[in-house]
Amino acid sequence: MRLPADDFGRVLWSRTAAPPPPTEPLRGDAACDVAVIGGGLLGLSTALALAERGARVIVLEAASIGAGASGRNGGLVVPSLPRIGPEQAPPALAALVATGADAVFALIRRHAIACDAVQSGWLHPAHAEALAPRVAARVAAWQAVGARCVWLDAAATQARMGSTRFHGALFDPSGGHLDPLGYTRGLARAALAAGAAVHERSPVLGGALGGAPGGAGWTLRTPHGSVRAGRVLQATNAAPPGLGERPTAVPLLVYQLATPALPASVRRAVLAGNEAFSDTRNNLLAARWTAQGRLVTGGMAMLHAGALTRLPRRLARRLEATFPALGAVRFEHVWRGRAALTGDFLPCISEPSPGWFSVTSCNGRGIVPATVLGPALAAFLATGDRAALPLPVTKPRPVPLPALARRLPQMLLPLGDWQDRRAARR
Ligand SMILES: Cc1cc2nc3c(=O)[nH]c(=O)nc-3n(C[C@H](O)[C@H](O)[C@H](O)COP(=O)(O)OP(=O)(O)OC[C@H]3O[C@@H](n4cnc5c(N)ncnc54)[C@H](O)[C@@H]3O)c2cc1C
Repeated sequence: MRLPADDFGRVLWSRTAAPPPPTEPLRGDAACDVAVIGGGLLGLSTALALAERGARVIVLEAASIGAGASGRNGGLVVPSLPRIGPEQAPPALAALVATGADAVFALIRRHAIACDAVQSGWLHPAHAEALAPRVAARVAAWQAVGARCVWLDAAATQARMGSTRFHGALFDPSGGHLDPLGYTRGLARAALAAGAAVHERSPVLGGALGGAPGGAGWTLRTPHGSVRAGRVLQATNAAPPGLGERPTAVPLLVYQLATPALPASVRRAVLAGNEAFSDTRNNLLAARWTAQGRLVTGGMAMLHAGALTRLPRRLARRLEATFPALGAVRFEHVWRGRAALTGDFLPCISEPSPGWFSVTSCNGRGIVPATVLGPALAAFLATGDRAALPLPVTKPRPVPLPALARRLPQMLLPLGDWQDRRAARR
C-alpha cells in the first residue's frame, strides 16, 4: 500500500502551507542523545521538546517533513479520542487529550507558527436521535477529566451547523482547525531553532545495538551516513516497530477532498462559526472550512481501484443531503493518506529492543495526541523516568492475521453504512 511518489502534489496543503525550513540529507557520521526516526507531528513535537530540554537530538525523515499522515490530514484539532470515551483510556492520557487542543494552539502561538490555525471549536453531533443520550454522556465524561466541552441541544446544534440532520452535539470551544502541513513544517522550524538537527531524504535502513559511550545505545544507518544515539524514538506511524518486526498497527488509506472556494453567503449558512465537526457515524462525516473558503471533508473507500473518481460523487451527495445551502457540490482536490489503527483506538508505546521505543499515536485523530505526547516522551527519553509517560511502555503487540486485518475496515464499510442509515431512520 505504498503511496505513489508524486502523490504529495495532490495534497491541497502542499499549495497552501508556508515553505519548509531548508534541510540536507544526512552525510557522514553523527552522534546524539536521542535519534528520532520520522519527521511527522509525533517525531517533531518530541524533538522540539527534547531540544528545549538541552538534549542533542537528530531527526531522520525518509522523505520530506510532513510527507506522511501529518501533512495530508484534514487538520481538525480534536480534544478527544476516536470512538472511545475517556474512561477507556489511562487517566493521565485522558487528561492530556482533554486539554490537548489548548496545548496545540498555545504551542502555535509560542513559536509563531504560520498555519492558518483557528480555535473556533469542534462539534461532535449525533446523526441519529437515538445517539443523542450517548453523546450527552460523553460530554459529562470528558468534563470530568478536565475538558471544556458542553452539550448543545438539537436546536442549537442545527443553528450552528446549518443542517437539520443532527440531534444535539458535544461542543468543545478549545478545538478548531489548521493547515496540517504548515503546522508540521512549523514544528520542524521550531525544533531546528531549539538546536535539533533535521535531515530529510534520510531513510533509516536499519539499526545495530551499540555505538553510544560504554557500548550502549544504537547505531542507525541511512544511505549516506550513520547516527550513534543513546536512545531511539521510532515515530513512523504504521511502520512495524524496530522497522522489521511484525506490524502492531493496521494501515488504513483515508481520502480527503476539498471544494473550490465557495461564496461568503454559503460560508455564512454552513458552520457559520467556522467550527470543525466530525459526527457519530461509523463511516464518519467530518468537515471544516479552510482559510481560502474551501470546504474540506474526507472518507474511506471499499475499493481503492477507481476510488479517486467514485468517492467524490458519493461524498458530494452526502454533503448535499446534509447541508442544502451548499447546492451542487464538486471537489477540486482529492488526495489520500495512510492512518494507523491500533486495536484499542489508543496510542501505543512499545520497546521492541532495549533503548528503542516505537510510538503509534494515530487512529485517525493524531494532531492532539502527537502534540501532547511529545513533551512527555521527551521527559522520558531524557531521564528514563517512565512516570513521565501517560501510557505504559509495552512489548510490541503484533496485529493478528495482518493481511486480513488491513482489509477488514474496508470490508466492514458497507455494514457500518447500513448501521448508520438504520440508526438515523429510528
Ligand atoms: C487522510 C487522513 C486524515 C486525517 N485527519 C485528521 C484530522 O483531521 N485530525 C487529526 O487530529 N488527525 C487526523 N489524522 C491523523 C493524523 O494525521 C496522524 O495521527 C498524525 O499525523 C500521525 O503523525 P506521526 O508523526 O505519528 O506519523 P506521520 O505523519 O505518518 O509521520 C511518519 C513519518 O515517518 C517517516 N518514515 C517512515 N519510515 C521511515 C524510515 N525508515 N526512516 C525515516 N523516516 C521514516 C515517514 O516518511 C513519515 O514522514 C488523519 C490521518 C489521515 C491519513
